[in-house]
Formats: sequence, C-alpha cells, structure tokens
Amino acid sequence: MGIRVTGVMIYYYFVCKRKLWYFCHDINMESDNENVLLGKILDEGSYAREDKHINIDNVINIDFIKEQRELHEVKKSRAIEEASVWQVKYYLYYLKQRGVGEIKGKIDYPLLKKSIFVELSDEDVEKIEGIIDEITQIIQKEEVPVFSELKICNNCAYHDLCFI
Ligand code: SF4
Repeated sequence: MGIRVTGVMIYYYFVCKRKLWYFCHDINMESDNENVLLGKILDEGSYAREDKHINIDNVINIDFIKEQRELHEVKKSRAIEEASVWQVKYYLYYLKQRGVGEIKGKIDYPLLKKSIFVELSDEDVEKIEGIIDEITQIIQKEEVPVFSELKICNNCAYHDLCFI
C-alpha cells in the first residue's frame, strides 16, 4: 500500500508513535491538519508580497520567503524541538526530491522572538528514508503502539483515548 508521508506525520513520529497511529487511522481530533487544497509551488498571486504559502500534494504545507529562498515553519514553543527540526528537514528532503534544492529551512518561534536554521545533510537523507519506512510499518499495524505516558499527554488531542 502506498502511504503518503506528510510533514505532520514526521512530526508526530518524534512526538509520540501512538499519536502518529491515531492521526493516520483517521481518528483526527487535531484542528489544524494539512488537508488543505492542493496548491502549486510558489503560486503567484496567492500573496501580495514575497511571502507564499505552499502546499504540495497535501504533503507539505509551509511558508516560503522567496527573496531569501527560505522555508519557514512557525511553532509556538521549543518544547518538542527535535520533532520540529525533523519536520523541516523532511520538507527540504521532499522539495529536493522534486528538484527544488538550495533552500534554507528556518523554524520561527514568534512568541520567543527566536529562530533556528535547519539544514539537510546526506546523513539526514538516509535517516529520513529510514523514518519513512518505520512510519509505514507503524501505521500499517492493526494495533495502536503501546502506551507510555509523556509530558505532553495533558495537552494532546488524543488524551481521552489513552487515559480511559
Ligand atoms: S495522550 Fe500521550 S500517549 Fe496518548 S497519543 Fe497523546 S501524547 Fe501519545
């Protein structure tokens, strides 16, 4: 079965495998999912200025600042930074596969007035390909991954499913 791995799935893979499973089994309680209309990269006219919102194949959904060739992902906090970093690396990977290279990734934390740069190395490409395989295996399983309580559980949309 061909599974289309999205940026959010990469993020959830790092946050919680159970959350990933629930999300992929259409138990979708998150309000901001990536199922927005198919857009075309750098769609002229969608933004008045240089900033573009990009949606490609409903797989990646990002902001792109043309002048600096920078792709931006906005996050509220640095609580799960590793997940955010890999989400952005995945975007860079996905774009590279489609012939769009030499783009810088940046995570913006407007509430903290901070940003960090994200790059994609050859090792990252290998790791991402391994992660895609693992995600495919996790979500093809009939059973939800085993529960283990995390710090983020209290703020998770699936809290009630895990704590019944
Ligand atoms: S409540 Fe906790 S264990 Fe359950 S899906 Fe959310 S983060 Fe994962």
